[in-house]
Amino acid sequence: MDLIADGIYLSSCHEAEDFGLLETQSIKSIVSIGHGFTAQFADKGIKYHLIPIEDDANENALDHFDDAVAFITETVAANEKVLVHCMAGVSRSPTFVAAYLMKSKGLTAPDAVDLIRAARDIVGPNEGFLTQLDIYQKMGNKVNQDSADYRRFLLSQAAYEQQQLGTLTKLKMTADPSKQALPQKTRYLRCKMCRRQLLAQDSIIPHEIGAGQSVFQYRKRDNAIQMISQTVNTAVGSKCSSYCTEPMEWMTEVGDGYLEGKIVCPNEKCGAKLGAFSWSGIACPCGTWVAPAFTINKQKVDVVGLL
Ligand SMILES: [Zn+2]
Ligand SMILES: [Zn+2]
Repeated sequence: MDLIADGIYLSSCHEAEDFGLLETQSIKSIVSIGHGFTAQFADKGIKYHLIPIEDDANENALDHFDDAVAFITETVAANEKVLVHCMAGVSRSPTFVAAYLMKSKGLTAPDAVDLIRAARDIVGPNEGFLTQLDIYQKMGNKVNQDSADYRRFLLSQAAYEQQQLGTLTKLKMTADPSKQALPQKTRYLRCKMCRRQLLAQDSIIPHEIGAGQSVFQYRKRDNAIQMISQTVNTAVGSKCSSYCTEPMEWMTEVGDGYLEGKIVCPNEKCGAKLGAFSWSGIACPCGTWVAPAFTINKQKVDVVGLL
């Protein structure tokens, strides 16, 4: 059992099952992460917060961060000790302690993990959990289901599920912007043929272009050569002939569970072919393989609205 920060301990499952040890350390609150853990000593006055997830990069830990952080925060605020454990105390439990440290101490995800590793050197959250900590940080250490980062996280989860199971059980499509009032400053795409609103700019998912992350331009000015680094790492880059987007509510073939198909304008009187989608992926002309891909041809739409 390792002390990580004020009142916060980290361990494998063995320590959590040793009531004598818990008593000696005066631990009265436990966060148990993994399938099969129960509120073993609840009748002896220990409070539990159970999180049944696997140590798997594709497991959704993110959705459990807020509740776990709140449980730890409450315990620490009451000047009590809390033990956070999983099976080995290597990947899952450090992830949740990191989420707590990020929120309570304003640390970045890598700094939080480093701080934990300084007290327990075997610590190493899996890649997927590290990514989820980064997403948590980007959302301001609180899950925001409306944020683009969160929607993309769910999309990556859905893509994985689609690959593994061949079905989609919980894909949440992005709401149709034509059915809600967009904020004034939103830029959006509309069908060139019928002008129907299709999607807001934040539904466009950037990807790195195949040529690399940046290109260099030499420009002669005042007899001096200036090198300008121009970052072209978004799908709005000139080499990409399509916008890669989130799956939208109005993309009916996507919602019907097809693995690939056309994307057509949802205006029934128009029905223009706008692009294509494929869960296994589509090669963007820039050279990048995008998977899953929901692509809208740039020539079929206009970008309108204020920056
Ligand atoms: Zn149209
Ligand atoms: Zn591209």
